[in-house]
Formats: sequence, structure tokens, C-alpha cells
Amino acid sequence: MKYFNEDKAAEQKLRQSATQPESSLLAPTAEHLKAEATADVLPIIQQIDALAETQDISLPFLRRLLEMPKDNAVKYLHAKARKAVETVYGDKIFLRGLVEITSFCRNNCNYCGIRRSNNTLPRYRMTFDEIMACCQDGYKYGMRTFVLQGGEDMWWTDERLGDLVSQIRARYPDCAITLSMGERSRESYQRLFDLGANRYLLRHETADEDHYHYLHPAEMSFQNRMQCLQWLKEIGYQVGCGFMVGSPGQTPETIFKDLQFIRSFRPQMVGIGPFVATQHTPFADQPNGSVETTLRLLSTIRLLHPHVLLPSTTALGSLHPLGRELGVLAGANVLMPNLSPVENREKYNIYDNKICLGDGIEQCSDCLQLRMGSTGRRIVVERGDFVG
Ligand code: SF4
Repeated sequence: MKYFNEDKAAEQKLRQSATQPESSLLAPTAEHLKAEATADVLPIIQQIDALAETQDISLPFLRRLLEMPKDNAVKYLHAKARKAVETVYGDKIFLRGLVEITSFCRNNCNYCGIRRSNNTLPRYRMTFDEIMACCQDGYKYGMRTFVLQGGEDMWWTDERLGDLVSQIRARYPDCAITLSMGERSRESYQRLFDLGANRYLLRHETADEDHYHYLHPAEMSFQNRMQCLQWLKEIGYQVGCGFMVGSPGQTPETIFKDLQFIRSFRPQMVGIGPFVATQHTPFADQPNGSVETTLRLLSTIRLLHPHVLLPSTTALGSLHPLGRELGVLAGANVLMPNLSPVENREKYNIYDNKICLGDGIEQCSDCLQLRMGSTGRRIVVERGDFVG
């Protein structure tokens, strides 16, 4: 595979920003693990090979993957996923600069810290100038994708959001614009696409309708969420779906439905991260999701859909000090550093104990560079479009 950098100067700057030697988390290869496999592990390795080959999984084997002890079969699953992502994207890690443009939301999702009913949070809405300043910072530090994210805030009409997209498109013609602004009308999605938005992130949250209603208030519609995802795809966006791992009510059966949905929908991106229990929500007292299960599912999704862009999420890093590195070693190839002004971040509390609340993009860039160095991957200055 041929590697190239769209912007050598910016990439050089990014690399120079790393100030400490790289340490290594490098793990054994799939070939090595297979050659060394003992008789008890070999049958599982063969089933993982079959999963990779057929890009399909049965419910019994999913259960086994989720429940098996953390041994060489799990290492093989991750190694096989690394090999799959390297075959498509090489050793590249793509950055997405996240700008949290509003913390207002009309919805009341049971897991979310910025749900409408949480009256304890001060709310904010960024101005155009503030958002453009974030994009400028991000561009300087190598971001070639900007993700505009927020609650379902109706102040952001099609006209206002369209103006913002147009301004970013005009100033940064070489960048991708990703929107993550929830459910809107088909006309709205079309208009924003026509003005220059390229990608849209809308987690489906669960492909099981009963589970969806357990996670959301009665006024929210599973059908509408799925319809929005279909519209986005039909319009031509690169679409991201996703779900929380360990959300209340989740079972192997609901995860199986999620995986089957991903197989059939073929999204360009899938965002999964562990559920993090958050104060002032109905699920505040629920246990957090498991980092280990999240890693196994990242690898499974990579093998089911090798071309997918797969973030190693901030939620993973929030529950484990090396969470994002482990995500990359399990098959992820995207990171989403936060470009939002530091003073806004605590107010955008979609879940508790989020990392990097006080780090500006300069510190964040240094830190990520070092962290990824330890995985043997390199952060590149590219849009990182879906290949496939
Ligand atoms: S998950 Fe999204 S739609 Fe639901 S309350 Fe939070 S910000 Fe709003």
C-alpha cells in the first residue's frame, strides 16, 4: 500500500511536538500467536479466522468471545483486528477535531448528562467566531476533519447551521466537515450536505427496539433514529452509527443485533465506547461498562467490517489510563481530540469523569503523539476518508 501525506509541513510540526521518547506497547502478531497456540486455544483461533473470512458471527460465538478468559485467544482476536486495519489503512491514525458547539438539548436520553431535565448544568452555545477559532487551532495542529457536535438544539436552525457549514467549507476546502447534531428532517440533512458537510455521526444506540425504549424516554422513536440513518446514507454522507458497551439493559442478544445491523447497514464509521454512569441521570447508579468488553467488540467490528473507520473513544480513555492505546491495539484507527474552549468542557458533561477537560489542543497534540508512538502507529495529517 502506498502512503502519502497531504501536508508534510503540518505533519512534521505534529511529530516535532513529541518531546519524550516513545515507549512500546507492541503486542505479538497473529502469526506468532497462532504458531504458539496450545490445543485448548486453537479451536477458538480457528473460529476467529472464520469470522474474519466470512465477515459474519453467530450468537453462540459472540457469547464465547465476550465470556472467554483473557488469554491468548483474546490476544489473537486483537492481533487479527490490527492486521485487518493495517491491510486497509496501513499504520495511520486519523484525527477528528471535535467542537462541542452547544450543550442545549431538547431530548432526555436516560444515560446522558446534558439531557434536558438536568437543571444542575449551566448551558452554553458557541458563537460563529468561537467555532471558527477552534477550527483554526485544529488546522494548525493537523486536523483535517472538524466534527461539530451538540445536543438537539433547535436554535441551530438549518439556516444558522448551514451558514456555519458554508463558512467552514469556504475557509477550509481541504477538510472534511462532520456533523453530529442528532435527528433532523431529510430536507435539513440534504441542505447541510449541499452546503458542504461530508459526514454525519448519529449513534443508533441499540438495534433492539425494546432496549432502545429502555434507554430513551417514550417520546423518542427507534424508527425515526433508523430512518435518519437511512436518509443520511441515501443523501451521500459518510455515516457513523454506534452504541455504548455495557449500557443498562444490554445483553449479548442486543449486541448481536447491533453487529448484524452494522453488517447490513455498512456504515463508514462506528463509534463504540463503554457506558459511563453519570450523575443527575436515571442511570446514575448503574455500573460502568467494561473496558475489556469494549476492546473485544472493537476487534469484532473490525473483523466484520474491515474498512470501517473506528474511533478509540475518549470514554475508553476515561475508564482506563491507557484506554485509547488499547483501543488502537484492538483495531481502532481514529482519535477525536477536543478543540472546544477549555472553559466550556465541564458544561458539556455528556458523561462523568471525562479526561482531558483542562488540556488545550497543544498539550493534547503532544500527548496523543506520544501515546500513539507506543502502539507503533503514526498520527497523520489527512482527512482520513473511508476507503472502500
Ligand atoms: S444523547 Fe444526545 S440527544 Fe440524547 S440527551 Fe444527550 S445530547 Fe441530547
